[in-house]
Amino acid sequence: MKRILLVAATTGYQVREFSGAAEALGIELVLATDRCHILTDPWGDDASAVRFEDPAEGIEALADRGPFDGILAVGDRPAYVAAQIAERFGLRFHPAAAAQAAGNKLRTRECFREAGLRVPEFHLIGHEASLPDGIRYPCVIKPLDGSASRGVIRAKDAAGLRAARERIGRIVRNPTLLVEDFIPGREFALDGLVTGGRLRVLALFDKPDPLDGPFFEETIYVTPSREPQAVQTAIAVAAQQAVTALGLTEGPVHAEMRVNDAGVWMLEVAARPIGGLCARVLRFGGRTLEEILLRHALDEDVSEFSLDRGAHAVMMIPIPAAGAYRGVQGLEFASQVPGVEDVVITAKEGQILVPLPEGATYLGFIFVRAGSPAEAERALRHAHARLAFDVSPMLSVVR
Ligand code: ADP
Repeated sequence: MKRILLVAATTGYQVREFSGAAEALGIELVLATDRCHILTDPWGDDASAVRFEDPAEGIEALADRGPFDGILAVGDRPAYVAAQIAERFGLRFHPAAAAQAAGNKLRTRECFREAGLRVPEFHLIGHEASLPDGIRYPCVIKPLDGSASRGVIRAKDAAGLRAARERIGRIVRNPTLLVEDFIPGREFALDGLVTGGRLRVLALFDKPDPLDGPFFEETIYVTPSREPQAVQTAIAVAAQQAVTALGLTEGPVHAEMRVNDAGVWMLEVAARPIGGLCARVLRFGGRTLEEILLRHALDEDVSEFSLDRGAHAVMMIPIPAAGAYRGVQGLEFASQVPGVEDVVITAKEGQILVPLPEGATYLGFIFVRAGSPAEAERALRHAHARLAFDVSPMLSVVR
């Protein structure tokens, strides 16, 4: 039986999806995590502990759990740890330096600029009272190693930038933040698989809701893209250049980019697959993304698998208000909208909902399959409109 090591920070949905896919393929999945103390079945006794901030010891201890035939990761930090493990044990994955650069927004900008990609002007700022010269407005300020748009804020002037800096300072520990030009334009996400440094696009998603700030909440992803072929090709070319610039060579990538009259602007390329439950929207001849990734990790040729025909769309259901989640009405009506495949509410009753920029979570997901991207988008909006969320406002959130 082949064995694959999965590096993950939590035992959430994504780990369960991988676990199911591995079982179906007859692969043994071994979990490495830094959360062993809170693990519940089925991983309780079986998971390996690796301290993500200081993984050397945990990585050495994995020698007793091996040998492994492949490795995968979910999440940015786990991807960097997986890359280090892969280097230690000679497994197929992205180089550690590349995964590290991909997980750091400053390094990413530097790599893109050195490679001649289109890059916004950027500056580092700390806590000092004065702001560096040359900042242009509107700008976007963000933590160096955040994810899911947490702590990412658009500012229209210096006063707004200072206020945003204070606000982010209460969310993240690192006082150094990245400030860059706001790039107007349409936004896209791309999931791909890199083999020997060559990127194969598995899916290009349009994000039809405008993302103009001040916060950048993800909502709808629709694939295939409705952009003209020339734009899609330009995106794929830029994504390959970005993958090469970072040095990513083997494994999944999830990239985000904007397009305007100047061309394609790569925002980032993460050394991991799309997050949360979103991967469920992707089907390859009835196979899941997790299955494709497991096979690829085992060195199998997966080039024959391509995205099913038709349109596929997912909505990350936004948080309507801060407060305690009480429940939802209209689930049946939403599920009955033609094209809706599933509505999954991941929020738990009583859970405190924290919107962006402090929070980084969704209420759940709506999945749609339809004949065309426009129909898929419409079905998502109709289904979402049928949901009524009950959130008790909180007088104040003590932080
Ligand atoms: P994260 O990794 O936390 O998601 P990103 O750097 O990808 O952080 O930013 C999150 C979102 O913020 C992006 O998807 C985009 O919508 C928006 N954004 C980030 N940087 C810029 C920018 N320079 N110009 C315009 N929008 C931006």
